[in-house]
This record gives sequence, structure tokens and C-alpha cells, in this order.
Amino acid sequence: MTLALLFLSPAALVAPAPDLAMDKVAEAYVHLVLAVGRHDASFVDAYYGPEAWKAKAALGMPVPRLDLEQQTKALLAKLKALPASPRREFLIKQLVAVDCFLRRLGGETMTLAQEAKQLYDIDIPSVTLKELESARQKLETLIPGESSLETRVQSLRARFLVPADKLPILAEAALKELRLRTARILTLPEGERFRLAFVTQKPWGGYNWYEGNLSSLIEVNTDLPIALDRVTGLLAHEGYPGHHVYNALLEHHLVKAKGWQEFSVYPLHSPQSLIAEGTANAALGMVMTEPEHRTFMLKTLAPLAGLDTQELDRYLDLQKLLGTLGRAGDLAIRMQLEEKRPDAEVIAFLQRFSLVTPERARKTLEFNRVNRAYVFTYSVGQQLVEAYAGTGPDRVQRFVDLLNRPVTPSDLITSEKKSK
Ligand SMILES: [Zn+2]
Repeated sequence: MTLALLFLSPAALVAPAPDLAMDKVAEAYVHLVLAVGRHDASFVDAYYGPEAWKAKAALGMPVPRLDLEQQTKALLAKLKALPASPRREFLIKQLVAVDCFLRRLGGETMTLAQEAKQLYDIDIPSVTLKELESARQKLETLIPGESSLETRVQSLRARFLVPADKLPILAEAALKELRLRTARILTLPEGERFRLAFVTQKPWGGYNWYEGNLSSLIEVNTDLPIALDRVTGLLAHEGYPGHHVYNALLEHHLVKAKGWQEFSVYPLHSPQSLIAEGTANAALGMVMTEPEHRTFMLKTLAPLAGLDTQELDRYLDLQKLLGTLGRAGDLAIRMQLEEKRPDAEVIAFLQRFSLVTPERARKTLEFNRVNRAYVFTYSVGQQLVEAYAGTGPDRVQRFVDLLNRPVTPSDLITSEKKSK
């Protein structure tokens, strides 16, 4: 009888089709990430899936952390049993990060290198004092003078700081131009839109809050003055073709068109952030060449801000060198969090090599304390994305391709090795 029944219902014995099985795991992953968010509000950076799922996660007491760890491991095991696909590889790396985040929440101590590997799927970069000293030496030549290098750098930079009351009009002009240029390299989903707001008292310079339905809130922090060239850099990063566009394309192509629910949630401390920050940092260079950016500042932004542009070229050379010196941040975070050096010492180090003001250095320390290894997603992400895009005629297309599909940092590293 039992045997006969088995033969009569073959459907019961057949495993669900791979996509259905993937969809089930993806849905469980979304519930899991929302449940982890109950333990740390910063973990869920964006969610625009079904309202009922969010409501369910918010009900009652948070699921105990150890239960969530078990769920994560069980989901990973299920995933690994499914046929390989880019979608599966993406989710595996995301779940490794969820597992690491939960263990860290439980008090497990780990080095920044371990965090970077498990949370963001990357190795941390190495930078030596010698490299930094040599970049600082180049600055001495670029801006000669009697006073200290710090003073000379600050006085040149001060000439290109945008007056706070002019910032909204500059931001609007920059976003308009960037959106226009983005529409030339990719198809923006119909109805995509953003709101722009100016805020204070934040550890970051700008933030894109993706709200779903192709809409973002872009916040610009005005605690510290913003330099002329940073206006375009920041809004390309947060808006076009950076975070806002990345999120809108994922929602449009993967969640809405394919029903891939895993992209309706964005856990901040995960490999997805490496792709997000890497593409956002590379964004400006994909829609504006350096000479085009210079012209835009000269002809449009500087007149709006009422800034004198006589020394613009020297200033832009300075900013380039300061970009190299910005790598001092990768050493500073280790001094701060692993070697536990006093804040004053780390601030002095950042002032010497990043040539930043003490206020800016203090913001960096504040950001590091909250976000730890996240800081590496910017520098490593940009380097990986730019190396992946390459310098060929398909450079921009390769960049756009990263905004439309599941991709892991490891994918970028592998393809970088292949192309060498
Ligand atoms: Zn960002």
C-alpha cells in the first residue's frame, strides 16, 4: 500500500525546481536580515519588500542571537546544496557576513582583517609610511612656502570651500548635470526620483537612504564645509550614477522583473556594500572625464558659489595628491582600533599625512568607531571596480553591468587576475 502510494504520487518525491528552491532560501534570508536588524538598527540599510514581512519581524521580542546564528548556518547549508549560479554565490557571501556580524554582536573579538574578509569579502590593503612620506614630499614641491605644509594646504583649500548658503543651488546644478550624463550611459527606470536634504551632526559626509519604489532620500551633512570638487564627487557617489542608481536598477531589474526578493533588503555590513561603495566611488569617473569635470566647476559651479578660480589647477593637483595621502586612513584605523593608541595620537597622524583639519580627523575616528572595517569598502571597492571596468572601449559598459546583477567582490578579484 505504501509502495503503491509512492508510485502514484511521483510529484511528492521530486525536489522543487532550482529557482523555486532559490526563491525560498532568498525569502528566508530576507526574514533573517530583518530579524538581525532588531539587534542592531544600523544593520538594515534599506528594505522595500512586502510590508507584512517587516511587520512580522517587528513583532514581540527579538529572536535570540544564537537562534539567528543557527538559522544562518542552516540556510547556508541549504544554499550550498543547490546548483551553482551567480545568484547562489551572492547569497552565500551575504550569509557568511550575517554569520560574522552575529558573532561580533555576541562579543567575539576579531581583527580588522578577519572582519574585512568575512563581512565584505576582501583583503585589507597595505600602505607603508614610506609611500605616505613620498606623497607628502611631492606636496612640499607643489605648494612651496615659508609656513608649515599644513597651513599652506589649508589656505589653498580654503579658497575652494563652498559657502554654506550656496550649497543647495550647487547641489541642484550638479545633480541635474550628473543625472543627464547618467541617462546617456544607461536606461534609468521610468519614475526614478530622489529628494535632497541638508542635515547636521552626522559622522558621514553624505548618505543615500533608498526608500523603494525607485525613490531615494539623499542627505548632505553640512557640519563641515564642502569643497567645490567634492560637490560633484559626493552627489555622483550618493546619486547619479552611484547609490541611488544602483539601488533603483536592482529593484527594477531583479526584484520587480525577476522576483528576486533578496535584493529588497540591503544589510549594511555585507559584501553588497563593497559593490555599492566601489561603484559609487568610481561613479563620477564614468560620466565625466577629468577635463569635463574641471570645465563644469569652472563654468557652472564656481560662478554659482562666487569662488575665484585663478588657482583651480593647482588646487586640483593638490586634491589628487591628497587622494594618495588619504590612504593614511587605512593605517590610522589600525592604530585606533587594534593598537588602541590614544585619539590625540591618531588625530595627529591623520593631520600629518591626510593633511586634514583636527575636526575632520575627529569625524574619521567617530566613523571608524561605529563602522570599523567598513572603511575599507571605499578604497578597496573603488580599486576593484575600476580594475574590473578596465581602460578599454567597453569600460563604462562593464561598470554599468555591475549595477544590474548579483556580483560578489571575489568575482571582481578573480576577473582582475584573469585579465592580468
Ligand atoms: Zn557610499
